[in-house]
Amino acid sequence: MIQPAINPPFWLLAELTYRCPLHCVFCYNPVNYANIKNELSTAEWIRVMREARALGAAQLGFSGGEPLLRDDLDELVAEARKLGFYTNLITSGVGLNEKRIASLKQAGLDHIQLSFQDSTQEMNDFLSSTKTFELKKKVAGLIKQYDYPMVMNVVLHRHNIPHVDKIIDMALALEAEYLELANTQYYGWAMKNRQQLLPTREQLVAAEATVNAYREKIGKQCKLLFVVPDYFEERPKACMNGWGSIFLDIAPDGAALPCHNARELPGLDIPNVKDHSIREIWYDSQAFNFFRGDSWMQEPCRSCSEKEKDFGGCRCQAFLLTGDPAATDPVCSKSPNHHVVKLAIGEAEKRDLEPVAQEFPLIFRTDANSKRYAG
Ligand code: SF4
Ligand code: SF4
Repeated sequence: MIQPAINPPFWLLAELTYRCPLHCVFCYNPVNYANIKNELSTAEWIRVMREARALGAAQLGFSGGEPLLRDDLDELVAEARKLGFYTNLITSGVGLNEKRIASLKQAGLDHIQLSFQDSTQEMNDFLSSTKTFELKKKVAGLIKQYDYPMVMNVVLHRHNIPHVDKIIDMALALEAEYLELANTQYYGWAMKNRQQLLPTREQLVAAEATVNAYREKIGKQCKLLFVVPDYFEERPKACMNGWGSIFLDIAPDGAALPCHNARELPGLDIPNVKDHSIREIWYDSQAFNFFRGDSWMQEPCRSCSEKEKDFGGCRCQAFLLTGDPAATDPVCSKSPNHHVVKLAIGEAEKRDLEPVAQEFPLIFRTDANSKRYAG
């Protein structure tokens, strides 16, 4: 039965595949992705899109892994366009040659977001464990040539945050209209590498000052988005704008998730689109209802005047840092576990910035490493 208080999903994120030619150390895919098989078929994705659109979803992101590895991407984009979705391709650029971009344009793709790992070939190729820097620059040219706004995304951490000026210069040289400087979020592979990726406060302050100086200088030429990582804040982010509120993520195997990392949480009965309609999943499933509202909250969130603002923070972060998915997000200074975040920052402050510490070697997102985590 539909509960009138629940709004329909607005965002549909179609994670078409966990396969990816890159091996990023901060990848947000599950660390055990190698064990997650049975990708949805073209027909199953089309049914998902139709049902989500009928429910009210309007924005559709195609991501992965690398969504271009799916040969049916063009067909899915064409169907999404027919259904009236605004479509966004989130890509590393690998596989986006001229033939493919022309075909995607023809299919009606609205928007492309291209990721870089750094402004230098050396760091870009090291962090992704591939030789993709020059190729990404070519793809950036194709995106402009095919009249798309150039939207660039760079994940920031202690190894590239000192290059933020060079990253902005690169974005300007490639005529980007938007540059998202996304500070690493510590889930998935990034959590495994947290010791190696957390920046120091000094690095962050310097990077923010650089971004602000560029904003003054370049005006509207390129919109710079820079969000301070929540570890350095006193309040958590309003994760997903509230659990089961606007965001619906479908994983490659058809698992339906209220956020990318929700399959890691204990106690959730994750529904699959192979067994249920999108309507059943959104309104009636145990997983989507679990953290809706505030009846699940513990103190201090339960009686907090700010709970409508941040919904107690991120459930996945609460679980990763405390072992309890219903705990207050430890990023919050009111959390009894706030010290675990402070401790992580304190340890990052103590470590040498150069060279990359040998004490905690970086763990790359590879099938072999994933199989180890999958057990
Ligand atoms: S973060 Fe890197 S490895 Fe992970 S899906 Fe994106 S491009 Fe691939
Ligand atoms: S106590 Fe909970 S609701 Fe209050 S600000 Fe912190 S995380 Fe948000």
